[in-house]
Amino acid sequence: MTAFLLDMDGVLYHGDKVLPGAREFVQQVSRHKHLFITNNPTRSPSQVADRLTQMGFQNMCAERILTSADATALWLNQQKPGFRYFAVGAKTLHETLAKLGTEDSGRADFVVVGEGPGLDYETLTTGINLVLSRKARLVGTNPDASVDSWADGQKQTLPGGGALLAPFEMATGQKAMVIGKPHRFLYEMALERLAVSADDCIMVGDRPDTDIAGAAAMGMGTALVRTGRFLPGAPWPKGIAKADWDMEALADLQTAFQAAGIL
Ligand SMILES: [Mg+2]
Repeated sequence: MTAFLLDMDGVLYHGDKVLPGAREFVQQVSRHKHLFITNNPTRSPSQVADRLTQMGFQNMCAERILTSADATALWLNQQKPGFRYFAVGAKTLHETLAKLGTEDSGRADFVVVGEGPGLDYETLTTGINLVLSRKARLVGTNPDASVDSWADGQKQTLPGGGALLAPFEMATGQKAMVIGKPHRFLYEMALERLAVSADDCIMVGDRPDTDIAGAAAMGMGTALVRTGRFLPGAPWPKGIAKADWDMEALADLQTAFQAAGIL
């Protein structure tokens, strides 16, 4: 039986708007093993589940949601159980890391940079000295250059995890390990949680460069819906493997999956 990984923004909703066919699609997928995965480390799984419930999605629970902050904490714990860290980013990132590790700005094993507030001259200085003097490893939750945010119906662009990580890489001359899509670690943590192998899993996303490229590199099936940043009619980006399914909307994908006996 096929398992599913689903991106959320641009697949289930865009801003505060639920995309057509999304609730029905999720209802079908929920009969299978599935996980909602996101590069956004600023909201906890229970906050995401509450938001989806408010949008009218049924039977949402925190256990079905994996964020890049969760995946980062799990990955760090695999590298070094009981790890010590210095983190720069949203409150949720700090709370998530604290569940498995110990904050220690003097003897950190890892400097973790994620989205959200926290970066300033002091935190940058502390972080780069941990990397340079104490050989702490630099880790980013997600590589996004920028992210879209909606407040009171107004769209705003915010710096993404990649943009916030860049000054640490620049100052230390070191490349960070990055957990979120298209890198493999978020997918690996998701497959582990579902206890399935990559070739039994299909990733549904809205971005060829992250969702699709990363999943294809893992050997997963790939399905793109053109309801997010990548719109109908846009030519497929060069150098990225074409998605196994390339659909205008989730309703079309649901029909195709049903015809193929997958759903
Ligand atoms: Mg998306």
